[in-house]
Order: sequence, then C-alpha cells, then structure tokens
Amino acid sequence: MTSQQILADMATALVSGKIEIVDLTAPLGPDTPILHLPPDFAKNTPKFKMHEISAYDQNGPWWAWGWMELGEHTGTHFDAPSHWISGKDVPENTTDTVPVKNFVAPCAVIDCAAEVAADPDFLLTKEHVQAWEAKHGDIQPGTWVLLRSDWYHRNTSTEAFLNADENGSHTPGPSVDCVQYLVEKNVMGFGSECVGTDAGNAAGFTPPFPAHSLLLGIGRYGLASLTNLDKLPPTGAMLVVAPLKIIGGTGSPVRALAIVPRD
Ligand code: MN
Repeated sequence: MTSQQILADMATALVSGKIEIVDLTAPLGPDTPILHLPPDFAKNTPKFKMHEISAYDQNGPWWAWGWMELGEHTGTHFDAPSHWISGKDVPENTTDTVPVKNFVAPCAVIDCAAEVAADPDFLLTKEHVQAWEAKHGDIQPGTWVLLRSDWYHRNTSTEAFLNADENGSHTPGPSVDCVQYLVEKNVMGFGSECVGTDAGNAAGFTPPFPAHSLLLGIGRYGLASLTNLDKLPPTGAMLVVAPLKIIGGTGSPVRALAIVPRD
C-alpha cells in the first residue's frame, strides 16, 4: 500500500467514523488544578488567568480578544527534556526544538483504574508493564506509555485532584524500576492523568521523581493531566500532542488528541 493510499483510507475512515478522534485534554481555565510545591520551594506556578483586551466594546468595537497568564506546566501539558536538570544539556530539548515527528506517535494504555481506586498511592512497576506486554505485545520504541488511573474524574476539584494531607500528595505514578524499564525500551515518554507524571510521593524515591529525572534525562517526554484514557484501547491508538513552539520552553499546555480505531 502506498503512503498516499494510507492517508486516503484514513480520510475515508475519519468521515465514516471507523476512526474516531478522542480528546485527552482537560478544560483550561482559572479553576484548572496546578501543582503545589512544598513550602521550602517558595516560587510556584500561577493559576491560569485570562485578561480581557476587548469584548465588542469601546476597547474594540468589532472584536473580542484577551491575553493569558499561564504557566508552561499548567493543565494538560507536555514536559520537554529541559524541564529537568538531567535533560538540560540533551539535544533538541526545548519546546521549539523537539523534532515534530515525535508529536505523532502510538500509545500503550495500561489500565490501573481498579488498583488506583483501591490505593491512591499505587505504583506502576516493571512487573505490571511486563504483565501488560505478555497480554498485549511488547512495547515498541517510540511509543507513549500512558497510565490509565481514571484520576481525571477528579480534575474539577484541586483538592480531590492533588489528594494531599500532612504527609504530602497521594496520587499514582511509576516506580523507579518501571521508569528504568521504559528507558531501556526507549519509549516516547510517560503520560498520566494526575497533575504531574510522577507519583505524589516520588520526592522520596531514589532518584527523586524518576519519570522526570530518567525519561527527560534521555531526551524523552512527559504528559500530565490527561483525560479520557478510559476511552482508549490498550494498543492501536495514535497520539497527536504538540506543545506551543515557545522559544526555549520547558513545556507547554497541549491539545492532546488520540486517533482511535473503532471497528
Ligand atoms: Mn510538567
């Protein structure tokens, strides 16, 4: 089959509904939950804010527009390698230099919704990933690995989303050996429905925040605050996620889309 035919067939399948586009993006607004850093790190990312320039009024009689106050790592967003100190010197490590071919890639969806419902501190281990592979096939290089936790249902409440108490945040994520395994597999990156890619208690891991430290350290990526992972098959879907081309950007909100076969 020629590549021209592949794209023509895809266009036909999109029109007929045999291929569906699923939105993996949370709404972006003033109530979008943002990460809360421990008090010893004084500076935090601000909440999203839209400032009005005009609204068909004396400031612009025929037009409406605004400007945004927005952290790079807000809402459904992409972590570029330069976000982490381990990735600060890897090539093509900022939002404007990441090769565009990496913005379209297959995904493996690992369903841990039941485990997370039973234990919000659930850690995805190497063994979990290998059990998934035994059922669905080996994860190929360049594949996004997405942790389905159904956590996105909490996304409307910062309190429920961060799920913090005096011991910190209780949210799921990958263990160190899991991330090491994903690094060996040379995956495209790791994606989570939580506020960040790492587990709520990952500051205490060795190394701390392994999804950031290890994956960004090899020039790979992260996706946080994804939604609707329960609407994806374990394999066979294609992700389209592109950060804004911010010069030197360490990350960016994205519109994350999945192209999903439905026959
Ligand atoms: Mn981030």
